[in-house]
Amino acid sequence: MEYGTPILQIKGVGEKTARIFEKMGIVTVGDLIRFYPRDYEKFEEALPVRDVKKGEICAVRVRIAGSVTTKKIRNLTILNAVAADGTGKIKLTFFNMPFLKNVLKPGGVYLFRGMIQYKDGMFVMEQPKMYKEEEYRRLMETIQPRYPLSAGMTNHMVTKSVKQALSFCLPEKEFLPETILRSEKFMDREEAVHNLHFPKDFDTLIEARKRMVFEEFFLFILGLRGRKMENDTADSGFSYIETAQVERFLEKLPFSLTNAQKKVWEEIKTDLQGMRLMNRLVQGDVGSGKTIIAILALLMTVTNGYQGAMMAPTEVLAKQHFDSITEMNQKYKLGMHPVLLIGAMTAKEKRETYEMIADGSADVIIGTHALIQEKVMYKNLALVVTDEQHRFGVRQRENLAAKGNMPHVLVMSATPIPRTLAIILYGDLKVSVIDELPADRQPIKNCVVDTSYREKAYRFIEKEVAAGRQVYVICPMVEEGETDSDSSSMDNVENVIDYTQKLKGFLPSSIRVSYLHGKMKSPLKNEIMEEFKNKNIDVLVSTTVIEVGINVPNATVMMVENAERFGLAQLHQLRGRVGRGEYQSYCIFISSSDKKETMERLETLNKSNDGFKIAEEDLRLRGPGDLFGIRQSGEFAFKLGDIYNDAHLLKKAGMWVDRLLSEDEKLIKQEHENLRLYLENEKWNPIDFRTI
Ligand code: ADP
Ligand code: MG
Repeated sequence: MEYGTPILQIKGVGEKTARIFEKMGIVTVGDLIRFYPRDYEKFEEALPVRDVKKGEICAVRVRIAGSVTTKKIRNLTILNAVAADGTGKIKLTFFNMPFLKNVLKPGGVYLFRGMIQYKDGMFVMEQPKMYKEEEYRRLMETIQPRYPLSAGMTNHMVTKSVKQALSFCLPEKEFLPETILRSEKFMDREEAVHNLHFPKDFDTLIEARKRMVFEEFFLFILGLRGRKMENDTADSGFSYIETAQVERFLEKLPFSLTNAQKKVWEEIKTDLQGMRLMNRLVQGDVGSGKTIIAILALLMTVTNGYQGAMMAPTEVLAKQHFDSITEMNQKYKLGMHPVLLIGAMTAKEKRETYEMIADGSADVIIGTHALIQEKVMYKNLALVVTDEQHRFGVRQRENLAAKGNMPHVLVMSATPIPRTLAIILYGDLKVSVIDELPADRQPIKNCVVDTSYREKAYRFIEKEVAAGRQVYVICPMVEEGETDSDSSSMDNVENVIDYTQKLKGFLPSSIRVSYLHGKMKSPLKNEIMEEFKNKNIDVLVSTTVIEVGINVPNATVMMVENAERFGLAQLHQLRGRVGRGEYQSYCIFISSSDKKETMERLETLNKSNDGFKIAEEDLRLRGPGDLFGIRQSGEFAFKLGDIYNDAHLLKKAGMWVDRLLSEDEKLIKQEHENLRLYLENEKWNPIDFRTI
């Protein structure tokens, strides 16, 4: 077996399983080996019932007290039993497992493990797993991997397949230079890979992860540096002058730019008129007004006779930008010719658009990465703006270079990256910061509450909708068991589809509730967003697909279910979807865990409205020990690393890459041969992140 061997060769993986694996991006044995667990499960000693806590997963050893009852509701069989252990009572509930009635004997003692809930004055475990004593003993000595799953796949299946892959497949050669391994005392590659899947113990896991995260950052930065050297020397082939149209547009706008926007706009204007190509990142918190800056840069480009393009991470966002640019174009007679280019268009529409781009009759091109991936030929592209996604920023120029002149690059982002990290990630890419919100904004009112507040929240939603406003409700999952079908920790997680059903029941039927999630096909997603914008939907239940960029100023309530499952930076982004207009806006974070630390973490959102501060605070609260927790940044979706939590490794990797390149730029030395071969063989692509 080799890394390239198809997974069908693995025992127990048939056509059907292989197809599901393929959906998960796993085609070869190598893909499987590089498919790392999402987190790990440690089986702890069983707890006395007295010590269990709501929202936590634990095991109890209890005696069935009294009879086991079953009832049927439509096609659902619910089996209930009350059990106790001398310190307290707990209710056990099982769904569609009627046979358990013959298994669970009154008076019998069993081990159950599951998530603790609290209902009608009593602790409850729903659908717990049952274990034999010796089986549980054995599990307690191991750390079990838990993989991210797609529907139809089980954790057991992945675990079994990975085990085989690891034992039959020749390991990859170590390619990190010996000097690094020795100086940093990094674990050897094979051992690290093995322990990432099946950790010997927790300390080994930390070491294994450290090595692999370093490797990931190291390769990423190495890729960036290689490119940057080309970019640094690039002279601008364009000549820009200030144009009256831009000035006139600014005068006509219903608002004046904030001082921060003015400053950033000056910086961009200077770049565009300079001798070198622009390579600039504009960072500004949600709602700080980045789009208008992008439009100004595009307008200046067009009035200088060039084409400008704007890329967004999702079709929904691209469409939104297209609509608002088209509207401004007409309203203020800007004389631009915008076109939209997204995957959801028909082949014919695309062909027509390509033609307009090629002959220059379209001069502002807005779309997703289709803009660079497909066969688009530009007439004279001089500027590319990418919104809300750094990851395009770095690679796009090289892709676009093949289409003519290298353009100026402007990247817009609300993800707070500390400046030191930005420098590591981008080298001397210039950073502008919009550190001021438009003055007319009313601060958003926040609250962090537990699930018992829901009823009140619904009444509040009703009131807002009656006043003509709109509402977002965010749930972490698409469908029941979507991410992890055999994991008990998911039990309490709200999912979009069921939630929408439930919510419709709680709200008056005049309120129009609809849902949106990332697995929907693009045209449908676009349609629903469109409907929401046009106020044909009052309440939109969604996953975090609406996390970035969406601008519907009439939406005033953001309610987030299972807020404890999100990173604070992400919650802050979500909060940024409201408070974008003249109305007072509200954010309701519902936490289904009442652990003190969780509440404290979420309270941070109450105290600050500053994305940068929030990210820092989150890091401080959780500490570096919490490595496998919540990811902060959806944008820099590294497989393992997290730019915040692993900032120290990122710094290290940056330093080592610099050292390596200054010593052996082309990697021709003997000790760098494996690294060079690895990069060549893998056709390794540093920015090939998972899609959001
Ligand atoms: P983001 O920085 O999150 O991308 P947007 O660019 O979408 O934010 O701007 C949010 C809203 O603020 C938009 O409706 C925009 O028209 C408005 N806006 C932008 N700049 C200003 C300003 N200087 N004064 C008032 N409103 C502004
Ligand atoms: Mg934006």
